[in-house]
Amino acid sequence: MAMTEMVREHVFEVAGLGLAPFQCIGTFELPSQALQQANPEAYNNALRQMPRGFGCGTCALCGIAIMNNFLIRSSDRKTFSVGCECVKKTNDATLIRKVDAERRRVESEERAKRDAQEAAERAERDRVAAVEAERQRAERQRIAEQEAAAKAQAEREANKEHMRRINREALAGIMAVGISEEQGKALIKAIASGAVPHVSISY
Ligand SMILES: [Zn+2]
Repeated sequence: MAMTEMVREHVFEVAGLGLAPFQCIGTFELPSQALQQANPEAYNNALRQMPRGFGCGTCALCGIAIMNNFLIRSSDRKTFSVGCECVKKTNDATLIRKVDAERRRVESEERAKRDAQEAAERAERDRVAAVEAERQRAERQRIAEQEAAAKAQAEREANKEHMRRINREALAGIMAVGISEEQGKALIKAIASGAVPHVSISY
């Protein structure tokens, strides 16, 4: 007889939390102190989503502070929050099953959120790496173009110097036969510009 009474008396009912049967109608996870420090706006947003009238934050059965609130409604419409350990104390198989299912649902949601977050972070890392690779490629190209331009410039300078030397040697040869420097320069200029038929300077 004592055994029957124990089974019939619901712990929540005994605690004055309303009449059985009790239903778990959802969960609410309080935002953490860490979030309050890191992101006060997100913390306040989370707090605003807290269901009213359930006394979230304190287990209605044992009075300890709880983060994961299981929202319970009695058959006479009383509402309160309990921790999952206190749900187990009830021996209320239906309620325990529902709370376990809720916990699995929340865990799976959190896992999905975490996975999505990780995927987003991976995508962002890939994007940053691609931007960096493109920056390096552009930098290599810029350096290669700069080097090619410097090389072409050096070749032009070397060629000019080479022609000046040939012209000087030609002028010396011309002056050696008694032609003045002024006339010699004019002659070389005329030959170089193609004004003297059949005569050229071999540079
Ligand atoms: Zn409790």
